[in-house]
Amino acid sequence: MSTDCIFCKIVAGEIPCYKVYEDEHVLSFLDIGPLSKGHTLVIPKHHCVTLDEIPVEQMAAVGRLLPKLGPAVAQSVGAAGWNVLQNNGPVAGQVVMHVHFHIIPRNEGDGLGYRWPAGELDKNEAPRLLEAITERMGH
Ligand code: AMP
Ligand code: ZN
Repeated sequence: MSTDCIFCKIVAGEIPCYKVYEDEHVLSFLDIGPLSKGHTLVIPKHHCVTLDEIPVEQMAAVGRLLPKLGPAVAQSVGAAGWNVLQNNGPVAGQVVMHVHFHIIPRNEGDGLGYRWPAGELDKNEAPRLLEAITERMGH
């Protein structure tokens, strides 16, 4: 637990939330500033900042929950689809520094599009890129 972390305080019950789901590893609650009706957050209970820091058992619990919770959230508000969004670092839009996954219900014409200025894969660069990634994966 991090004492100055708002989501740790929610896990500890020191700050209230609209709890959607809880087990020993994860907590899910309604986002207080929803992008759309039903916007829900899923967090590992262990305090960590980015996805790569999540203890493997807690990440597994997140992985077990999302496929079940996503449709439940979307269907409960009659949404046609849903996004899972997870921001790592301020430059990626992370504001709360306790790792979390957004479930965002989507509907046609909801105006929630994001900038997606697609480029084109540089096929000359791709092999070097693969090498660089694989090297860092350690196998
Ligand atoms: P991010 O930009 O990915 O860090 O998103 C942080 C999210 O946490 C935002 O969507 C906020 O609306 C949400 N949030 C912040 N404080 C609370 C809170 N006390 N209860 C529920 N959601 C919160
Ligand atoms: Zn925390």
